[in-house]
Amino acid sequence: MHGTRTAILTETDRLMTVCNSCRYCEGLCAVFPAMEMRRAFSDGDLNYLANLCHGCGACYVDCQFSPPHEFNVNVPKTLAVARNESYAAYAWPQALSGLFVRNGVVISIIAALSVAVFIFGFAAVNDRAVLYGVHTGPGAFYQLMPHSAMVALFGAAFLYAILALVMGVRAFWRDIGEPVRMTTDAKSLLQAIRDAGDLRYLDGGGVGCFNEDDHPTDRRKIFHHLTFYGFALCFAATCVATIYHFLLAREAPYAWWDLPVVLGTLGGIGLLVGPIGLLLAKSRRDPVLVDPQRFGMEVAFIGMLFLTSLTGLLLLVLRETAAMGPLLAIHIGVVFALFITLPYGKFVHGIYRFIALIRYARERQMMASGAGE
Ligand code: SF4
Ligand code: SF4
Repeated sequence: MHGTRTAILTETDRLMTVCNSCRYCEGLCAVFPAMEMRRAFSDGDLNYLANLCHGCGACYVDCQFSPPHEFNVNVPKTLAVARNESYAAYAWPQALSGLFVRNGVVISIIAALSVAVFIFGFAAVNDRAVLYGVHTGPGAFYQLMPHSAMVALFGAAFLYAILALVMGVRAFWRDIGEPVRMTTDAKSLLQAIRDAGDLRYLDGGGVGCFNEDDHPTDRRKIFHHLTFYGFALCFAATCVATIYHFLLAREAPYAWWDLPVVLGTLGGIGLLVGPIGLLLAKSRRDPVLVDPQRFGMEVAFIGMLFLTSLTGLLLLVLRETAAMGPLLAIHIGVVFALFITLPYGKFVHGIYRFIALIRYARERQMMASGAGE
């Protein structure tokens, strides 16, 4: 990014300069080795390091210069604030970057409006007999809302989210100095997929993540895995259902044993347990390690995932009852809000962290081959 450096990037620069002289934490995660490859830090470098940090807290607990020392070194919190500010800095279009301010309130309002619009929409276009009727068999859902309307609405929301995310990634990619040709670097990509897939750097250098005290645990990692893989399974269920519909001419709802339902149910359970665990872990975490301003953003995203799963599973269980119509309106209202807010909420942390991991894998590779930067 260009222009005047923000206060948080100035502070991040100061800390990285202190850490670069100290280097005590270099075995804890990817941030310190990446920092050591530099003597000076551009804004892009600092945003890269901030997004590479997984917030495990180990470097705060280990640091001999943390408060009340006069050096006032708090790397986890500083990088958390810088990371959160980077989401707004790279948001597309920039006019919507303000959505990251009071994000919890913004997401809650959008979700409430979306659910309300679908409920009133369903009530407006369906008479009571249809809205509260019992519908079974293939095509049951489409008696309340035509499949073509669902595809048009959700396809547009999904494509918009993808476009906004791609544009954000493009800005981040350029800011951290990566050339376009980097996309062909399969080795770094695979390394980043492995590192992201098992949250390699959320383990405090092997001991676990620090939470409410000096005793690290794998709690956050486990609940994060449940959330991420739950989300992935739900997405896979949607993809399989789309293939069923368009290639095999098989209409939803599907039987309990059918692949979209099995994937969606397993994913849905992960998306119930994972977010609850993350929320509990978050509420117990030592406030000194986190960005207090973004608590709302994190809770809102976790809440949206939880509600998506809860309403989806309720719809599955009650789909052959009179509750199906209202539940379908609520579920797709939540899902629609989730889609359109993906580029403007906590979801982006996964995308930018993955890009930072690719960058780190590349740097390691270049160091190993002696090419340098
Ligand atoms: S966090 Fe503290 S101990 Fe770790 S490298 Fe930085 S200054 Fe040194
Ligand atoms: S909080 Fe954890 S991941 Fe972040 S810089 Fe410190 S040790 Fe690394």
